[in-house]
Amino acid sequence: MKHYDLAVVGGSFSGLACAQSAAIKGARTIVFERKKTPGAYTQSTGLLVKEIAESINVPRHLTRKIHGIRLYSPNMQCVDLYSDNYYFLATNTGGVLDWMARQVKIAGGLVRCGEKVDAIFRRSDRFVLARQNTSCSYLVGADGVNSSVARQFDLGVNQSVLLGAEYAVAGFDRLDPDYLHVFLDSDHAPGYIGWLLHGVDHTQVGVAVQYPRRPDLKAFVVHLLGHFGGGAEILGKRGGFIPCGGIVRPFAGEHICLLGDAAGMVSPLTAGGIHPAIDIGRRLGQAVADYLNYHGAAPPRAIAGLVPDYTFKRCLRRLHGRFAAPNWLLNACLGNRAFQRLAKIIFFHHRGLFCKEAWREILLKRS
Ligand SMILES: Cc1cc2nc3c(=O)[nH]c(=O)nc-3n(C[C@H](O)[C@H](O)[C@H](O)COP(=O)(O)OP(=O)(O)OC[C@H]3O[C@@H](n4cnc5c(N)ncnc54)[C@H](O)[C@@H]3O)c2cc1C
Repeated sequence: MKHYDLAVVGGSFSGLACAQSAAIKGARTIVFERKKTPGAYTQSTGLLVKEIAESINVPRHLTRKIHGIRLYSPNMQCVDLYSDNYYFLATNTGGVLDWMARQVKIAGGLVRCGEKVDAIFRRSDRFVLARQNTSCSYLVGADGVNSSVARQFDLGVNQSVLLGAEYAVAGFDRLDPDYLHVFLDSDHAPGYIGWLLHGVDHTQVGVAVQYPRRPDLKAFVVHLLGHFGGGAEILGKRGGFIPCGGIVRPFAGEHICLLGDAAGMVSPLTAGGIHPAIDIGRRLGQAVADYLNYHGAAPPRAIAGLVPDYTFKRCLRRLHGRFAAPNWLLNACLGNRAFQRLAKIIFFHHRGLFCKEAWREILLKRS
C-alpha cells in the first residue's frame, strides 16, 4: 500500500487546485477522479470571473473574453451592465480541467483517473482508501455536491440546490457575442435565471431552477429562437446540481476537509462556484502541506478567512426561491435604477455589500 501526505477525492476545479499547490509545497499528493479524464463530461458552463481568470493564466485558446451582461426581463426588454475593466471568460471547460490536471503533474502530484473512491477507513493516524490500495495523512473531499466523503465521515451535506441544464448549440445567429445574456423569467427559470452566450467552440444556452422543480430547456430554447433566430442544432447536453444554501456545517474534521461544491462553497445568488473552488482550493493545499511538513496551523483554520458565509446573498436567494417574483414585477423592475445597481453588485462584486467597489458603484456612479 502506497502512502501519501494528501489524497484528494475528485479531480475538478477545487481538487486539482488544491493538489497543485500542495505538490508545489512539497507534499506527496494524489488525486482520484472517477471519470476517464478530468475534462470528460463536464457539468459546468465554465464561466470564469475576472478575479480568478487573472490569477490562473489559462491558455488563451481555451477562453473567450466577454465584457458585459445583457439582462432581460420576461418581456425581452434589456439593459446592458458593465463594471470598470471587468470581464468574464467563457471557457472550453473540459480543456481547462485537463490543463489543470497537467499542472498538478508538473508540480509533482499524481492524478489517477477512472478511479471511483467508495470505501475509506480511518486507521489511527491515517486514512485508507481500500480499493485504491492507498493511504494518506490528510484527506480532502472535493467530490462535488453529493459528496460521498461527507457522508462517510458525518460531515455536513448540501441541503438546498439548484438544478441546471445546458445545451451546446450551433445557431442563434443574431446573438451579440460581446455579452453574457441573462434572462429573468419566473415561467422558464423559476427561482433562478436562464443564460445564453457565444462560448469558445459553440453557443451555450442553459437554464437553472430551484430544485425540486425541473428545468424545461427545450421550451426555453424555443422561446429564445423567436428573438435570436437562425435555428439551433443541439450538439451536446450537460448539467447538474448546484449548491445554493451556503457552507455546510461542519465542513471539516480531524485531518479531513471538504472543498468546493462538496462544502457548499458556491455563491448562492450567481451560482458561481469555480472562483471559490480554485481560490480556497489553492489555499487549502498550501495549508495542508505546511501543517504536515512544518507544523503549521490546522488547515480549516488557515482557510477560515477565505471561506465566505454569503449572508447577504443567502438572504436574497431565500427571498428569490420562496417568493419567485411574478413576471409582471420583473418587467417593471428592469428599468429601475436601484434594481440595475443591485444586479451590478450581484454580477460584478462577488463579496456583495462587503466590497468597497460595490459601494463606490452605488454611491458615486450615475448609471
Ligand atoms: C449547469 C451548471 C453550470 C454552472 N456554471 C458555472 C459557471 O459558469 N461559473 C461558475 O463559476 N460556476 C458554475 N457552476 C458551478 C461550478 O461548476 C461548480 O461550483 C464547480 O465545478 C465546483 O467544482 P468542484 O471541484 O468543487 O466540484 P465538481 O466540479 O462537481 O467536481 C467533482 C468531481 O469529483 C468527481 N467525483 C465525485 N465522486 C467521486 C468519487 N467517489 N471518486 C472519485 N471522483 C469522484 C466527479 O467526477 C467530479 O469530477 C455551474 C454548475 C452547473 C451544474
